[in-house]
Amino acid sequence: MDQTGVSTETPKSPWGSVAPAAPSCSLADVMSEQLARQLDEENNAFPTLTDPGADLLLSGEDPDTTSDLMLAQMLQMQYDREFDTQLRLEERKFNGDSKVSISFENYRMVHPYEDSDSSEDEVDWQDTRDDPYRAEKPQTTPRKGFTGKGKNITTKHDEVMCGRKNTARMDNFAPEVHVGDGLGMDLKLSNQVFNSLKRHCQSEQRRSARLHDKKEHSTAEQAVDPRTRLLMYKMVNAGVLDNINGCISTGKESVVFHADGGSLEEQPVPDEVVLKVFKTTLNEFKNRDRYIKDDYRFKERFSKLNPRKVIRLWAEKEMHNLSRMKKAEIPCPDVVLLKKHILVMSFIGTDHVPAPKLKDAMLGSDDMRSAYCQVLHMMQQLYQQCNLVHADLSEYNMLWHDSKVWLIDVSQSVEPTHPHGLEFLFRDCRNVSTFFQKRGVSEAMNVYDLFNAVTGLNITLRLNEDHVQRRGKKTFPVATDDGGPPLKPDADD
Ligand code: ADP
Ligand code: MG
Repeated sequence: MDQTGVSTETPKSPWGSVAPAAPSCSLADVMSEQLARQLDEENNAFPTLTDPGADLLLSGEDPDTTSDLMLAQMLQMQYDREFDTQLRLEERKFNGDSKVSISFENYRMVHPYEDSDSSEDEVDWQDTRDDPYRAEKPQTTPRKGFTGKGKNITTKHDEVMCGRKNTARMDNFAPEVHVGDGLGMDLKLSNQVFNSLKRHCQSEQRRSARLHDKKEHSTAEQAVDPRTRLLMYKMVNAGVLDNINGCISTGKESVVFHADGGSLEEQPVPDEVVLKVFKTTLNEFKNRDRYIKDDYRFKERFSKLNPRKVIRLWAEKEMHNLSRMKKAEIPCPDVVLLKKHILVMSFIGTDHVPAPKLKDAMLGSDDMRSAYCQVLHMMQQLYQQCNLVHADLSEYNMLWHDSKVWLIDVSQSVEPTHPHGLEFLFRDCRNVSTFFQKRGVSEAMNVYDLFNAVTGLNITLRLNEDHVQRRGKKTFPVATDDGGPPLKPDADD
């Protein structure tokens, strides 16, 4: 055996020994030997760590210091060794007398087998097929259910065996579950612990799948879900839109985007359009069911649809209501296209800047008075010609553009015959009269007069408990029985 542990004895050939052949020496061999020697000499000029020069360096003898590379290597070696000594001290200090110690080995500059003098430590990692850090998997019990004989018999119920097996089975958990390196530590997990870990992993997986699913299918706060995004891309691909520029508003029920119009079936689309994307986060719409389920136009379909499809009804409802308003020449967006829960309509504003809401518009008193007159007229038209009650009319849903008030956001608008129609109208009237009175419009009527002016009725109201019908938490004025006409208007189409 030589130093490297390789046997130097020539193995005896079973066929007998053959006399060694005389070394043949071709020209090519001579050439290559020369070349090898030459290369060897060149290499010697740059000793590596395993070179005799480097050994000198380690043993502290005066090495050859003529080469810069050599000097640099010497310095580096010295630095690395000092670093490692310091690291070892810190490791010892950190761990103290603790039974569980933390190894700083990975931070060492000189890897253990790089600077090891002992040939026993030398491991040729390249030749090791298996992961050297991976512990052996525990033995499986054979079919008969036990191993060994007599006293040394171990059954499959053996605590240590089971514990090791359980630890190994943690490998089968989902990849995202961090199980640590218990296998390497010869950890023995009891059945109870293993089972509860398994249950936890399974429930976690289900939970994350649910969350993922929700994320995929809902229109999130700012962004849109992948399905909606696809619909939007399709509109751009089909040329209906040239470009989708950005978000104008994110409300509770919808996200509104600004886009450049393209063309639809050869018809030009307005240069600037908005995409009103009704949110598919269903819970937001739960509170608004009453606007649609009692609307006879949608009642039949509402009951048959799943909640996702109900959202499309909102978009459809807004489209129908806008069309009615357009016919009555009420200033409102033009409908361009309805695609599932996305409504494309003309943009109210200029050069990407949306018209301000009436609440934000800085209007002089004349403009404010004019706005009031327009709103009054619009409410009358809406009620009498369109047979609609806005049901969310306020300074938030009226835009000021081109010295005109534009009505938007009519997805919840209902016909006056809706069971809550007049209640909604009364609320609209209260919002309008409060806003304009606050803004100093002296002509602004009080809520009751406005209600009469819109409906064309002439109800006299006595605000006494007998004459206020309570609906939910809100009070709703009704006609008295002193001969006045019934409040319920003649609202059929
Ligand atoms: P929400 O139901 O979320 O209130 P709206 O229809 O009121 O939806 O739209 C939200 C905001 O988006 C509006 O307040 C307005 O600023 C803007 N917006 C909606 N439609 C248009 C439009 N056609 N042109 C310009 N801005 C619009
Ligand atoms: Mg709105």
